[in-house]
Amino acid sequence: MAEQTFIMIKPDGVQRGLIGEIISRFEKKGFYLKGLKLVTVERAFAEKHYADLSSKPFFNGLVEYIISGPVVAMIWEGKNVVLTGRKIIGATNPSQSEPGTIRGDFAVEIGRNVIHGSDSVESATKEIALWFPDGPAAWQSALHSWIYE
Ligand code: GDP
Ligand code: MG
Repeated sequence: MAEQTFIMIKPDGVQRGLIGEIISRFEKKGFYLKGLKLVTVERAFAEKHYADLSSKPFFNGLVEYIISGPVVAMIWEGKNVVLTGRKIIGATNPSQSEPGTIRGDFAVEIGRNVIHGSDSVESATKEIALWFPDGPAAWQSALHSWIYE
């Protein structure tokens, strides 16, 4: 199966009307949307998603942020989509994100950095299973051979 990643537009990205812009960047690149939902998650679910960060001083604030409104949860598929997705998103701290990246173009604060993307294939597998227990959609793009050789 082709590589997949979990991408989430955080509550600030939803409130600020960045959903279309963000989806567009992944679409135009040549990645395929294999899962999509607008959902407001419970505290326990957010804590599970960010379990690896539970010892960090910003953990409670991070959880408050993620449960503060609806998020857009997505599965994107394509060659090297995990690493390339992280490049499209930009560095964690928007002060260090390059212009042209999502965080570089649309964010100022690390605690309001608009978007999440899995940091490895292993995390992607875990996060997709958590957010999309029914798995990805099975469709194939008719443009595939125009994007992949
Ligand atoms: P990411 O993979 O680039 O999202 O970064 P991490 O996995 O390290 O952290 C998850 C999220 O926690 C980040 O996207 C930020 O929203 C938040 N975060 C990380 N580090 C800090 C910090 O030092 N301060 C605050 N307030 N939030 C942070
Ligand atoms: Mg991370």
